[in-house]
Amino acid sequence: MNKLYFLLLIILCFTCNEDENPVIVESELQPYFERFKQAGIARGVNVDFDAIPIEGRVANLFDSNVNGWCSLNEEDPREIIIDDSFWSNASEFDKEFIIMHELGHCYLNRLHDDSIDGDGNCVSIMHSTTETCVFPYNDDTRDAYLDELFLQ
Ligand SMILES: [Zn+2]
Repeated sequence: MNKLYFLLLIILCFTCNEDENPVIVESELQPYFERFKQAGIARGVNVDFDAIPIEGRVANLFDSNVNGWCSLNEEDPREIIIDDSFWSNASEFDKEFIIMHELGHCYLNRLHDDSIDGDGNCVSIMHSTTETCVFPYNDDTRDAYLDELFLQ
């Protein structure tokens, strides 16, 4: 009986949550979506998540090679999924990078760019892998990478 009640409560809560304005970005991802928005605005790109809604959540992607995923198709809302085991071990810069990268796909419609500079560093935050280039994302390089992301 207790179990049945619990199940019923979940269904009711789920339903009432859907009726109201849904929270489309999980709270732990929200600050990084906001950073993307502010980084765009600072570069003259009007990032408007009301115009282009993008859902965001942390879940198990069941593939150790994939830390993040942007789902883009005509019918469904755009959605970013970040792998839960990556997220729980990620540094601040790792977290910011993966959201900037996935929103680069999902919001800016950017594809991968594996260009390499003379020092062997990735030219773009939109690189597909760090197997071919070094990606030093830190306080010194952040602005340049964000310039490239939004102004490319
Ligand atoms: Zn990508």
